[in-house]
Amino acid sequence: MRLSDRMSRLGTETAFVVLARAKELESQGKEIIHLEIGEPDFDTPSYIIDAAVRALRGGWTHYGPSGGLPELREAIAEDMSRSRGVKVTPSQVVVTPGGKPVMFFSMLALLNDGDEIIYPNPGFPIYESVINFLGAKAVPITLWEKNHFRLDVDELSSLVTPKTRMLIINSPHNPTGSVLTWEDLQAVAELAIRNDVIVLSDEIYSRIIYDGKHYSVYSIDGMQERTIVLDGYSKTYAMTGWRLGYGVMPSELASAVAKLQTNCNSCTASFSQRAGIEALRGPRGEVDKMVQEFRKRRDVIVAGLNEIDGVSCIMPEGAFYAFPNVSRWGMKSSCLADRIMDEAGVAVLAGTSFGQCGEGYIRLSYANSVENLKRALEKLHCFFKRL
Ligand code: PLP
Repeated sequence: MRLSDRMSRLGTETAFVVLARAKELESQGKEIIHLEIGEPDFDTPSYIIDAAVRALRGGWTHYGPSGGLPELREAIAEDMSRSRGVKVTPSQVVVTPGGKPVMFFSMLALLNDGDEIIYPNPGFPIYESVINFLGAKAVPITLWEKNHFRLDVDELSSLVTPKTRMLIINSPHNPTGSVLTWEDLQAVAELAIRNDVIVLSDEIYSRIIYDGKHYSVYSIDGMQERTIVLDGYSKTYAMTGWRLGYGVMPSELASAVAKLQTNCNSCTASFSQRAGIEALRGPRGEVDKMVQEFRKRRDVIVAGLNEIDGVSCIMPEGAFYAFPNVSRWGMKSSCLADRIMDEAGVAVLAGTSFGQCGEGYIRLSYANSVENLKRALEKLHCFFKRL
């Protein structure tokens, strides 16, 4: 079968490839500790499951409007207005099956061949994949460890050209856990407005933050008309398998994204959306408990990694990933990640799974129990001692 030329430009998410390899090793009887996949290990809170069951029994089993159920768009608009401090209307909200389609559909609706898109590197691999797939030009901005993996605004400014159409930011950040400050966002906004650039602000980890506060570029005056906020339920409510996310964007773009959904997936599952209303309006305690538990795990894993000779890890401020520097071993991080899985039985991702600027790092997801994290640290200790 001859695939289209554009397929050769489509990338992937290595986490799924590594997960499949880890499962294969497990089926051969090998014990693997899973620190590769980026999903909360908690169950979805029961009040959300109850709402979905009620929805299924109540007949929410049919197609709905492509942009999302009006009640959910309203609930999201309310929540966004409260959390971002600016008025959001339901017409600016599109509900999607997970957060990822917001990236794909908004870029599909906005980008032309040759447009330049600045994106974080290391960063979520799907940004670069979709940019290339659509025939636009991917322009990486390196996130340096010396800058705590936050983007450097002067460097950003040097990358902007008359062809720059979009800037992607992600805070809290996958894979480094960095968090942009209000000052960073003000500089980003100033640059975006001055150069007429659209900002895709991936805020899927906005509620998983430990030390500071989540700020959104969307809150800044003049940014509502040029920002797409990507958010969703996967990480905050441990709902990865429900496929429920949303984007907030100018109404005209929201209609275009809804039209793309009509052409592609018709709509997001109606009973998932009904449960999504409850998630936003229900008790906050469950999410807070998960974040507290993540914080405990973060402290365990970062302290443990820093005790290993030849490994150093800065403290992530959000999300649930540690991104230790392993460059002292002088080995390609993909080779190191493979050996860690084969020899230590710990599944981790190479930093280069998140772009070429991730060389010299590995990513560990600490969405696993403290007990398993401690066991993984022991295994890593032995592995690096033998290396
Ligand atoms: N954005 C980032 C930075 C992510 O890490 C992920 C998932 O890992 C997503 C978006 C996609 O989330 P979803 O599972 O809701 O599509």
